[in-house]
Amino acid sequence: MAGDKSYLIVGAGVFGVSTAYHLIKKYPDASVTIIDRDAYDASSRVAASWDWNKVVRADYDDIVYCRLALEAQDVFQTEALWKPYFHQTGIYWMCRDDYARDVVDNYKKLGRRADLAAVPVDEARKLYGGLFEDADYTGVKEVLVNKTSGWAAAGDCLIAVTKEALKLGVKYVTGEVQTVLLGTDGQGQRRCTGVRTTQGDVLTASHVLLCTGAYTPKLLELSAASSGHEDLSAGKRIVAGGITTGMTTLADDETYARFASMPVGVQGYTAEQGPFIGSLPPTKDRELKWWGQTIFRNNREVLPGRVLSAPPPEPDYAQWKVSGRLKEDINHANHVFYGKNGAKWKMEKHRICWDAFTTSSDFIISPHAAAKGLYVATCGNFHGWKFFPVLGKYIVQMLEGTLSPELTEKWAWDRERPDPSGFADYPRWEMKELIGASRL
Ligand SMILES: Cc1cc2nc3c(=O)[nH]c(=O)nc-3n(C[C@H](O)[C@H](O)[C@H](O)COP(=O)(O)OP(=O)(O)OC[C@H]3O[C@@H](n4cnc5c(N)ncnc54)[C@H](O)[C@@H]3O)c2cc1C
Repeated sequence: MAGDKSYLIVGAGVFGVSTAYHLIKKYPDASVTIIDRDAYDASSRVAASWDWNKVVRADYDDIVYCRLALEAQDVFQTEALWKPYFHQTGIYWMCRDDYARDVVDNYKKLGRRADLAAVPVDEARKLYGGLFEDADYTGVKEVLVNKTSGWAAAGDCLIAVTKEALKLGVKYVTGEVQTVLLGTDGQGQRRCTGVRTTQGDVLTASHVLLCTGAYTPKLLELSAASSGHEDLSAGKRIVAGGITTGMTTLADDETYARFASMPVGVQGYTAEQGPFIGSLPPTKDRELKWWGQTIFRNNREVLPGRVLSAPPPEPDYAQWKVSGRLKEDINHANHVFYGKNGAKWKMEKHRICWDAFTTSSDFIISPHAAAKGLYVATCGNFHGWKFFPVLGKYIVQMLEGTLSPELTEKWAWDRERPDPSGFADYPRWEMKELIGASRL
């Protein structure tokens, strides 16, 4: 069926790789190519999907994502390709609003039996050997404890699934896309014909899918400028946002033994208070990780007169250059989880990770309205990784026009866009306020 079609996927994060994997499994003879600026097994990549670990949970108050996350988790638990990367350690989520109850209700509505509960604070503090006894519980109503959630070794899993897709026939090209290319089809309609790389190479396909994460608004803006078609621009639909992660190594055997099987920790706040903060269990290298609370844009002029938020222009997004102010964000995260117990830990690794945001925190999985043959699938909003096993299934449905009306509407390119004030994670800071101006 897809034999006469060709697919060019720009971006080898979870959205792109999952699509390639699902396409080639469904259509073994199809021409499917991924292009990414980084090799899939490079020692450092800019993809948000490339990370030591990511939380895998279905603990959502939005029932659609709760259902999709359960579907993804079932794959993590049952399929040989995915299983080695999932660790079902549980989650311990300190909630300052009704989140815990909303999640428990969603599991009930979906008829899903699982070991989860909204636990009173006094009782919760004693769980897991009191690991979180010294956390900051100010304003916490109850703790969501879900023994079936956990985390995944994100980068390793991304490499494994990419390799599997390549084995099945997907091609992988390393190169940076500068612009999408437009032409006209037989009916005189504007059509995307492929992409041009910064090296000047042209790749063509009948379907061009942008899975370019935080870089998407810049890529579309450059394409709008070079083609003269302003409607290619993402406008206010997508904002690139950055956040800091930091790690400490639990070198001491006794401390490591205490934390080795800990659950994922989450400090949840109300939308007015700010974004949630996370603490992930130690990796095989004994590295305990946090993400911080300061989420920022990097508004900059990408071409004369064209200002938008984009990752820094360095090929590695300057992701390893982390300012003292942002490192403080990780110290704060450590403090609100472990208090005096973590006071002596040395923070060794910091990274700024970039993702694409919409004001509702929904993905965009949609045809682009400005050109036939051009599609967008990205906007993980800091929560997209866990859907890796199933994203491609829905993206293929979008490409084929069979996505359910509910999801078509939720993930549309053009849709009603709420004010982001109810979305705690929406980027509110400016990067230049957080680092020296010389690095912009
Ligand atoms: C700090 C942090 C913590 C997170 N924690 C979690 C978590 O615990 N659980 C969870 O579910 N989600 C989490 N997320 C969210 C999740 O990581 C992202 O939503 C998801 O990985 C986004 O995937 P993507 O494919 O859209 O983008 P990416 O993974 O960023 O991939 C985009 C790819 O496009 C390539 N690219 C971009 N522009 C070009 C170009 N012009 N030419 C060629 N290639 C290009 C890039 O090189 C990159 O490989 C977190 C995100 C961050 C930043």
